[in-house]
Amino acid sequence: MRKPKVVVLGAGYGGLMTVTRLQKLVGVNEAEIVLVNKNDYHYETTWLHEASAGTLHHDRVRYDIRDVIDRNKVEFIQATVEDIHPSENKVILDSGEIEYDYLVVALGAEPETFGIQGLKEHAFSISNVNSARQIREHIEYQFATYNTEEEKKDERLTIVVGGAGFTGIEFLGELVNRVPELCREYDIDFEKVRIVCVEAAPMVLPGFDPELVKYATARLESKGVEFRIGTAIKEVTADGIIVAKGEDEVEEIKAGTVVWAAGVRGNSIIEKAGFENMRARVKVNPDLRAPGYDNVFIIGDCSLIINEEINRPYPPTAQIAMQQGEVCARNLAALIRGKEELETFKPDIKGTVCSLGEDDAIGIVFGKKLMGTKAAFMKKVVDNRALYMIGGTSLVFKKGKFNFF
Ligand code: FAD
Ligand code: NAD
Repeated sequence: MRKPKVVVLGAGYGGLMTVTRLQKLVGVNEAEIVLVNKNDYHYETTWLHEASAGTLHHDRVRYDIRDVIDRNKVEFIQATVEDIHPSENKVILDSGEIEYDYLVVALGAEPETFGIQGLKEHAFSISNVNSARQIREHIEYQFATYNTEEEKKDERLTIVVGGAGFTGIEFLGELVNRVPELCREYDIDFEKVRIVCVEAAPMVLPGFDPELVKYATARLESKGVEFRIGTAIKEVTADGIIVAKGEDEVEEIKAGTVVWAAGVRGNSIIEKAGFENMRARVKVNPDLRAPGYDNVFIIGDCSLIINEEINRPYPPTAQIAMQQGEVCARNLAALIRGKEELETFKPDIKGTVCSLGEDDAIGIVFGKKLMGTKAAFMKKVVDNRALYMIGGTSLVFKKGKFNFF
């Protein structure tokens, strides 16, 4: 009898969690498992702000996918997904087509640009290893160029961060540690550097605990960050940004670097494939399947799960993507074995920790507020746990963070 073929798209948190769990749950004779990913490595999306600022080398945030999959059970295909034809059980790759009996879509997020003019052309985003490298190298280039020019352009040393959500704040936390190093490396007076964070909402980290937000804001300000709160970026140009404050007030902030960290949407493949979606995220059934397609699971940042308590979507996180991967693997195993009853996914939110650099952070873990070194310690525990969940102790020893004190 032909074995059912499971195709998993994306080797991020959701996809790798699904595959590493499924390879344990099903025997080699029960199913054919295929994993497709753009690169032959997985990257820790949750560490990209560090690679972007240059506080962690980009090779530290990635590892070889083949190191964590069981190659006797899983076929890995390095390819870019171009489209999905769910009614024909077919995926279009840049290298050909692939058919499936069961599909898992775990292709992650893309930056949400809200149609803002000039954003795609002139702003950077913290999205993957290469975009992180580009940000780090661009900032270094600006610093290196500054002193070589006869006519000094101070705006080369201005870095704008759009958005004071978790990504923006974590990136700022790294930047404030990296900039003094860059100043020493390139003989630049620290006073010349501006780090400006522009946030449209009336507060930093909208909706997060006010006491922790106050702590984070004060810490970042003390290290040189200027916050422009209640201020929306309206346009990005080759010279900087145009912001709107209030109804008719606009202002230009000249900057050599603009990093857009003002939100994400699902992968555009979701829209192209024709799944019913909201900003490229599919409101999945309780068992994580796409409405109308009993053989397609959608997880991670491409999925949308409603928090019934507040009737709003859960923010897309690695925490949820990994938990979905576990449930998705169990549901796939059930379907492969002919069972009809599938498990319902319910997020188990253990907390949120937001780093403010290597040795500082804020967070709420199991309902307890943390700040400073305790929170920073917890952040490293969370980072190492993600490695452990996918690759066990050997991956933790290879890639883990042990600079606890
Ligand atoms: P990802 O982990 O992003 O993986 C998607 C995979 O799909 C990637 O391997 C990518 O290469 C691949 N892919 C994409 N398109 C294609 C294609 N067309 N063809 C082939 N392959 C493709 N969440 C937390 O819970 N805690 C945190 O501390 C945290 N920190 C964060 C820090 C930063 C800087 C950022 C940007 C996000 C952070 N998040 C955090 C959010 C978290 O990273 C995401 O929610 C999580 O990565 C989603 O997992 P995923 O599996 O859906 O996608
Ligand atoms: P976000 O949506 O959480 O924050 C984006 C911020 O940008 C918001 O505060 C928004 O008001 C602001 N903004 C939007 N448009 C703007 C404009 N035109 N000008 C200025 N500001 C604007 O997005 P994010 O920070 O990229 O996070 C994405 C997801 O990843 C979230 O679900 C988040 O929880 C998760 N994440 C978690 C962690 C963590 O747990 N430590 C870290 C990073 C990201």
